[in-house]
Amino acid sequence: MLRFAPSPTGDMHIGNLRVAIFNYIVARQIGEKLLIRIEDTDKERNIEGKDKEILKILDIFGIKYDQVVYQSANLHIHQEMAKKLLDSKKAFVCFCSEDDISIEREKAKLEKRPYRYSGKCEYLTQKEAEKKIKEKKPFVIRIKKPEKPIKFNDIIKGEKIFEPFDIDSFVILRADLTPTYNFACSIDDMIYDITLVIRGEDHLSNTPKQIHIRKSLGYDKEIKYAHLPIILNEEGKKMSKRDKASSVKWLLEEGFLPEAIANYLILLGNSFEREVFTLEEAIEFFDITKISRAPAKFDIEKLKFLNKEHMKNINNLAKRFNVNFIYEELLQIFKNESSTLKEIKEKFDKVFEKSEDEEFKNEREILKKEILANELEENYDEFKKRIQKNTGLKGKKLFMPLRELLINEKHGAEIKDLYKVMRTYLKEIIKIR
Ligand code: GLU
Repeated sequence: MLRFAPSPTGDMHIGNLRVAIFNYIVARQIGEKLLIRIEDTDKERNIEGKDKEILKILDIFGIKYDQVVYQSANLHIHQEMAKKLLDSKKAFVCFCSEDDISIEREKAKLEKRPYRYSGKCEYLTQKEAEKKIKEKKPFVIRIKKPEKPIKFNDIIKGEKIFEPFDIDSFVILRADLTPTYNFACSIDDMIYDITLVIRGEDHLSNTPKQIHIRKSLGYDKEIKYAHLPIILNEEGKKMSKRDKASSVKWLLEEGFLPEAIANYLILLGNSFEREVFTLEEAIEFFDITKISRAPAKFDIEKLKFLNKEHMKNINNLAKRFNVNFIYEELLQIFKNESSTLKEIKEKFDKVFEKSEDEEFKNEREILKKEILANELEENYDEFKKRIQKNTGLKGKKLFMPLRELLINEKHGAEIKDLYKVMRTYLKEIIKIR
């Protein structure tokens, strides 16, 4: 089983969506199930409703899954496992207060060495520990650091080795008896029989800790790992919440199609024979072992290009925008000139607004009178000949105000094309100007 394990703590980031997409593709390729695990154990950071939003985004992108679980539902198992580690002396009760720890952290910082737990509580006798618990001294549970280095072979990053010193004796259960991220994640990967973990490389240093937890519990089934390179913004820095385009919700609101976003995220940092494809098509040729190890740079222009390509496959724009079908052909013209659905809609909405342009105000009035006074020819060239003759306008002074009468823009689509699709309702539109 594979899993996608989002935390319901904010808007879905494109990096997370990329993780979801790759998990989906690989699960389909190897014929395994996909579990969605909402990692909701950090109550303070959870945001109400984000879990539903994540599931909705997965649906929008056509990422199908077999099961959804909430990590908090397994709390009793996490606690039981912590107890098991205590009983087998693989973990110990630690009474060091948060203040004690921050003093040690500060000291390490001053001495320019990495902070590591002092080991103070590891050798308390059973009696001493029980006495403190009776005195109601708050405690956490720490797992003892491993004796030997932890090695694993990452599918993307290659062989990784972490020393016991760097893994350290870390906290697995907090004072309120809730599990830390590493503990809950590691136990859940074990109980759902996860075979391959695909996630962002920001989790790379968590992996030896998670392996160590399972080893300490005697679980020796291997879980494979693939850590995906991070996505950089256009300045080459890690794409953060401050980059609007990092939010999947924002991209959708801007009118990027899910098909194009998925295409882009699969393509990002890779080179395939073809650039434009659907998620289902990618299942045929995508190879996770060949993914580039270097960080990938986000390029909105490339995404716009792909969006335009995928927009070609939308036939019924009027239905999509919920507008009268008589405007379908006009929407198709705007489609050819736009990179996103939002751009199409903005162009379309502008057609129904009053023109604010002062430059060609007089010319517009002259043309308006002429157009409203006579029947409209079917043939554009005949129409053009007549209004040219009757108004005396020509060149820029004819075409710019005429385009404004049509679509409220000086520049844009060919007037000939616009005239052809707008002729039947042209007089109504012109009256708005
Ligand atoms: N919940 C973690 C996150 O959203 C992911 C954990 C994982 O994939 O192991 O970053």
